[in-house]
Parts: sequence; C-alpha cells; structure tokens
Amino acid sequence: MSRKLIMTIIILSLCFIVLQSAFPSNTSKPVAQPHAVNGLLDLSDWNFKQNGLVALDGEWEFYWQEFLTPKDFARTDFSEKNEHIILPRAWNKYILNDHILSGDGYATYRLTVKHTSTDILSIKIPRIFTAYTLWANEELIASSGKVGIDYTSMIPQYLPQVEYISPESDTIEFVIQVSNFRHRSGGILESIQIGSTSQISEVRTKNLTLELFLFGGLFIIGFYHISLFLFRTKDRSTLYFGIYSLLISARTILVGEIYFIQLFPDFSWEIAHKLQTLAYYLGVPLVFQFLKETFPQDTSKKIITIIKTIAIGFGLLVLFTPVKIFSQFNPLYQVFSILTFSYALYIVIISCIKKREGSYLIGLGVTILILFTVNDMIFLSVLLADSSNHFMRSYVTRGNLSSWGLLIFIFTQSLVLAKKSSKSFTNVELLSEQLQQINSTLEEQVHDRTLALEKSKEELSEAYLTLSKSKSSLQGLMQNLSHDLRSPLTTIKGYTNAILDGVVTQPDKQQKYLTRINDKVDHLNHMVHELFDLSQLQSRQLALQYELFPLKQIIRNLADKCYYDTLNEKVIFNIEYPPCWQDETSDLDSLYVRIDYQRIERVLTNLFNNAIKYTPEEGHLDLKFYIDFDYKNLIIVVSDTGIGIAKEDLPHIFERFYTLPKAHGTNTKGTGLGLAIVKEILEYHNGKIWVLSEQDKGSQFFVSLPICNINSIDHKEEQ
Ligand code: ADP
Repeated sequence: MSRKLIMTIIILSLCFIVLQSAFPSNTSKPVAQPHAVNGLLDLSDWNFKQNGLVALDGEWEFYWQEFLTPKDFARTDFSEKNEHIILPRAWNKYILNDHILSGDGYATYRLTVKHTSTDILSIKIPRIFTAYTLWANEELIASSGKVGIDYTSMIPQYLPQVEYISPESDTIEFVIQVSNFRHRSGGILESIQIGSTSQISEVRTKNLTLELFLFGGLFIIGFYHISLFLFRTKDRSTLYFGIYSLLISARTILVGEIYFIQLFPDFSWEIAHKLQTLAYYLGVPLVFQFLKETFPQDTSKKIITIIKTIAIGFGLLVLFTPVKIFSQFNPLYQVFSILTFSYALYIVIISCIKKREGSYLIGLGVTILILFTVNDMIFLSVLLADSSNHFMRSYVTRGNLSSWGLLIFIFTQSLVLAKKSSKSFTNVELLSEQLQQINSTLEEQVHDRTLALEKSKEELSEAYLTLSKSKSSLQGLMQNLSHDLRSPLTTIKGYTNAILDGVVTQPDKQQKYLTRINDKVDHLNHMVHELFDLSQLQSRQLALQYELFPLKQIIRNLADKCYYDTLNEKVIFNIEYPPCWQDETSDLDSLYVRIDYQRIERVLTNLFNNAIKYTPEEGHLDLKFYIDFDYKNLIIVVSDTGIGIAKEDLPHIFERFYTLPKAHGTNTKGTGLGLAIVKEILEYHNGKIWVLSEQDKGSQFFVSLPICNINSIDHKEEQ
C-alpha cells in the first residue's frame, strides 16, 4: 500500500471520528423528535432514559415588546393576544401584525412542557441573543446579562448554562425574557435542550472536554509554529500558520460552550465578540498567506492582495465599530469567504496537478478545513438564524466544526513538515558526505600544489642565485679586465709607436720589439680564454660532461700525464700511490669517480704548472694519491719545495686575478685566474681544494673528489 493511501485513510478516519464525536448522539436516534405546538410540548410519551434529550423546538408563545413574568401569566385577568414563533430562529424578519421585525427589541417567550418524569430534569441553555432571564415553574433559574427595553438599559452576555428542574407536577412552564439591542440578530437562535441530569451533564462535559482539548492543541501548535518562525525567519509560512492557530484556539473558547466567559463572567461581551469575529475574519487571509508561501508558483499575488485588503477592511470594521454595526456585514463576509474558498480549492488542485511538494496532504487538509468552515457558516448564517426552516437544520445541526477542520489541517501540515525535515536531514547527510570527499581531494590538491610551489620556489631561488652570480661575476670581470688588460695593451702600444714613429730603426731591435708584442698578445689571448672559462664556470652556465670512471684508471691516467709533463723540467719528480694500490684483495676495483675528465685533468695540469713555475731548479715535486679511511674521497696532493706562499696571502690565492707580488718577481707570467678556475671546477664536482704552505719552503695543494662505491650503488638500486 502506498504511503499516500495510508495517510489519506488516517486523515479521513480522523474526520469520521470528529464528526461522530461532534454531533450529539440523539440526532442519530431514529425516534422522531416531538415539536411544540401552540406553546405546548407534549412529552408524556417520551422516555428520557431510552430516547435521550429533547430539543425544546417548535411553536413557543411570543410576546413582542413585553417583559412578562410567570406571575403575569398566573393572573386570572391575563388576556394577552397569543402570538407564536417557531424556535430556534432569530426574531429578525418575523412578521407581526404585518410588520417585519428587525433584530432590535425585547420579548417574552413561553412554553409549557408536559411530561411524566419523576426524576430531576436538566435543561441546557445555549447562548441567547443577547440577554435573557429564565423561569421554570415560576422559579427564576437562569439569567445571562441584563434584559432591558433599550440599548442602554440592557447588558449583553453569552453564557451557555445547565440548570436543574425538580418537577413538582407533570407540567413545566418556561418563561424567558429576551432583549437585544446590541447584535444584528435577536432571540433564541439555538435549541434549548431538556433531558435527565446525567444526559445533559454528559453533553456539557463532552462539549467542554472537546473544546478545551482543541483549545490546548491549537494553542500549543500555534506557539510551536511561531517559535519555529523565530528560529528560522526565512520560512514565513510557519508564522502565518502559528498566528492562525492561535486565533482559532482563542475562538474555540469563545464559541460553543464559551468556556472563556465561565472563567471571566465579567469580560466585555463586545470585546469577546470582536475577538471571536476577528479570528474568523483574519483566518481567511492568513490561510491564503500560508498557501502563497507554500505554493508561490500557483498563487496569484494580485488576487491574494485583494483578499487581504478586503479581509483587513472587514477586520478594521470589527475593531472600530460596535457589534451591532459590524454584525450587519457578517453575511457579506460570509459570501466573500465562500468565493475565496473556491480560489483556495483551485490553488490546491493546481498544485496537486503540478505535483508540488506536500501538495496532496495540504490539499486534503485545506479541503477538509473549508468543508468544516462552510458548515459553521451555514450554521451561523442569517438564512438559518432568521427562519424556521427545519429542512436545512436537519443537515446542519452543529456549529463550530472549523476548529476541528483546522486541527485536521494542522495534522496534514505536520506530516508535510515531518516529511520536509526528514528530507532535509537526508540532504544534509548527503551534502556532508560530499563535502568530506571534496575536502579530502582538496587537501590532496593543496598538498600537491604546495609541493609544486616549493619546487618552483627552489628553482626560482636557484635561478636567482645563478643570475646574481653571473651578474656579480660580470661586474668583477669588467673591473679586472679593465685593470689587467690595460698594462699589456699600454706596453703593446708603446712598442708599436716606437717602431711606427721611427724611434727604433735597427732591424734587430725592431725584431726584438715585435717578439715582445707577440708575447704580450699571446698572454692577452690566454687571459681572455681563461676569463671566459672562469666566468662561465662561476655563472654555472657550463654543462660538464660527467662520466663514471674506475678510480684506479683515473689515478693511473693523471699520474702518467704529470710524469710526462715533468720529463723536460729540471725538477725531481716523485709519485706516491694509495697504500692499498698493489693489494689484490683491496676494494679499489669497486671504487669509481664521477667526473668530467677533461676538467679534472685541467685542475691537475694547473696545479702542476704552478708547482713547476714557482719551484727553482733541482727542487722537489711530489704527486700523492690517498683514499680517505671510509673510502668516501680521493685526495690528490701536489706538493713542491718552491717559494711557498705568505700566510697573509693564503686566504686569497683562489680569488680571481690574485697574483702575488713575489710571484711576479720570479719571472713568471701569470694571469691570477688558474686557481680560481680550479676551485670552480672542483665545486662543480662537489669536491674541495685547500692549501698548506710556508714561505721559502714550499706548498702543498690538496684536492678532494667524492668516490662512488659501485657495490653500494647496486645495493641502493636493488632496494
Ligand atoms: P697565476 O697564473 O698567477 O699562477 P694562479 O691563480 O694559478 O695564477 O695562482 C695565483 C697565485 O698563487 C700565483 O700568482 C702565485 O703567487 C700563487 N701560487 C700558486 N701556486 C703556487 C705555488 N705552487 N707556489 C707558490 N705560489 C703559488
């Protein structure tokens, strides 16, 4: 079975229960209700216990513009002309002596009831328009307000009551004085009922219980919806719903048994009446406001504004005019309500066709509310009040069903709310799951991006370093160039001028000058080449050709090269190999170096040339190879017994263009670039160079190059 069907069955059963409990049980009795004829109601054959209550309906004696008491009727000389009015009905439109009565006036009603009951009987008096005094068997048993012969002398009050009658004979004479100058309708508009005490009190208790239940229910629901609105002001439908519920809850205790007046008997009749009418009048626009908020696409703003304006207009009429005036317009408002209800039905039908969310349930609720409200309107209508048409009364026997209609409507609305909130919860769950997923991918993305950013930052700083290096190297180069090129150029210029100007004329001298010019040009050429290399190395623009070479092979090659280079020199040359060189069991074969061979060879050549250059004849020149204790570095030592370097010059010899004055004095031609190039090449190889020297004793240049162990490389790759 579909959920929709189950809900429909629940709601319709609720309607059925309401209708069952709302209608007095005696209406469904098959026994025909006796009616008063000529002011006499014969209940001789009526068994209250078996047949239930009897409404004192029918022809009552009617004395217009007279306040008569039971004593007046008891007078022997009482010879009033007997008029009859069929109750219940207002005296409005009653034709008396060819004169149609209005609602204003006063009158006395009399009815004699014949019965056979010996038990104490009770009567249930409804609200009477708008003040009355009631006698039963000459005993004053009830009154409401104060009857009077004009507007000022009377005090109106609606006060349904239950009173006991102890029958002393088989007849009960009811005399009721009624006056009305305050309401549109006057007289007895609802049935007075008689029955056994228990039956009457049962009806009374049942009515009160239901009404108070309704009041409490509607009040709490109204309050709840207004609170909902206060917590979430975006959805205004809850506000209108709340106000409407509160209004109708207030109305519930102002109609029917009018419990409010039981609690506060002195409460102003005018105000109570205004409140009760306002609840009905303002209920109409509030329902439309609610529909507009719930189905905005299916409602016409214009029509709703018109409905609201008219309803507010009527509401202002109620607020600012006395009951007597605004109650005249009540029939007009009823017609207006009927028209608006048809529009409300149209909205719910359209929303159902368009399958809007909750349209089916709200539609059902609104339809029931409208049906029940229409029932109330007919019950309170002028048509019913001003006539004794019993045909209609047999159908519409009970008013104040609209509160029940509202309760059912609220029930459907709460189902929609429950459905909405559970849907919202599911949505929230879904969204938070999605959010979590998005979150985790976002985190991953952020992590990746951060890594990428860090990488590009590193690259940028490297680029910056390179740039600043090349910039500073360029600056330095320009300074040194201008300084170091100037002197050879000046010399060249001097020699050239001497020849060109004819200062030197002898051919052998000219030859000597030209040879010097040639030497200077060679030196300049060499310097320019060195400078170019150095500046490229320093700006890290040079890509070296690294290759893995077996350590043994490198040592042998370098040693051979140095050996051949010194062959023509007048120095004593000695090579020292690592201690494990001849050891077959050593690990030397597994050791490699990753180098640009040409450059490393240049390093050694440079150091060697310097050593030869700065060492006098017959000096000693040693080339030693070591491997450090943990096989991490190859150490090459080039030592000589030459002129050495002064302590204060030692920190500067690796700087560009740094040449020692004494070096110049040794008749050597240096550029001061060799050691700077050596240092740069070694830095490229992650190697180092340092020097130990003592003036006039000799120098020891140490070069270290990192070694790779082929075993550990394999091992690492395997891992
Ligand atoms: P140069 O071309 O002048 O030799 P280098 O950069 O190779 O330039 O050397 C810088 C300076 O270091 C030299 O001018 C020299 O004074 C000093 N120097 C280098 N090697 C030795 C050495 N073996 N003995 C003494 N002094 C040296």
